[in-house]
Amino acid sequence: QLPTVAIVGRPNVGKSTLFNRLVGKKLALVDDRPGVTRDRREGDATLIGLDFRVIDTAGFETDDPQTLPGRMRAQTQAAVREADVALFMVDARAGVTPLDEEVALWLRGEDTPVVLVANKAEGKATEAGVHEAYGLGLGDPIPFSAEHGEGLVDLFEALRPHI
Ligand code: GDP
Ligand code: MG
Repeated sequence: QLPTVAIVGRPNVGKSTLFNRLVGKKLALVDDRPGVTRDRREGDATLIGLDFRVIDTAGFETDDPQTLPGRMRAQTQAAVREADVALFMVDARAGVTPLDEEVALWLRGEDTPVVLVANKAEGKATEAGVHEAYGLGLGDPIPFSAEHGEGLVDLFEALRPHI
């Protein structure tokens, strides 16, 4: 049984881009029970020789933009609770949003360790967004680019103690 990493965060921060990068061609849609895990994708990931199961959650991606409870599907909670570590992704270009704050508040109350990733940090002009992420109270954000594959070594080092 491989250790498990659950990728969480609000929509459009780059979760699926990272998932696809980690899993590559080994993607498996593991469960098609309607309404249960339909939006949950899992795959076997390899990161610099570290092997783990990765879950791409979509539990914050409902049509209700107003409240975290409206978005927090039970499967996302379950994914984080069963995971060895939660990878919480924010968008360094957009900066921290109220929904990021809500997700962070929720994660701080969970027992699962959290690795904070500030994505879209390639190039210039993202330092402010990365810096804002310190304020989420979940440790040092890792400047990252899922699209360009930057920050992978730092991610490896952050995940390794937990898996
Ligand atoms: P998700 O909703 O969190 O799963 O986000 P997606 O993976 O679908 O990505 C949302 C958008 O952000 C897409 O247009 C991606 O191409 C873009 N994106 C993802 N990662 C990066 C990145 O590292 N840098 C930039 N600039 N864009 C990214
Ligand atoms: Mg996605």
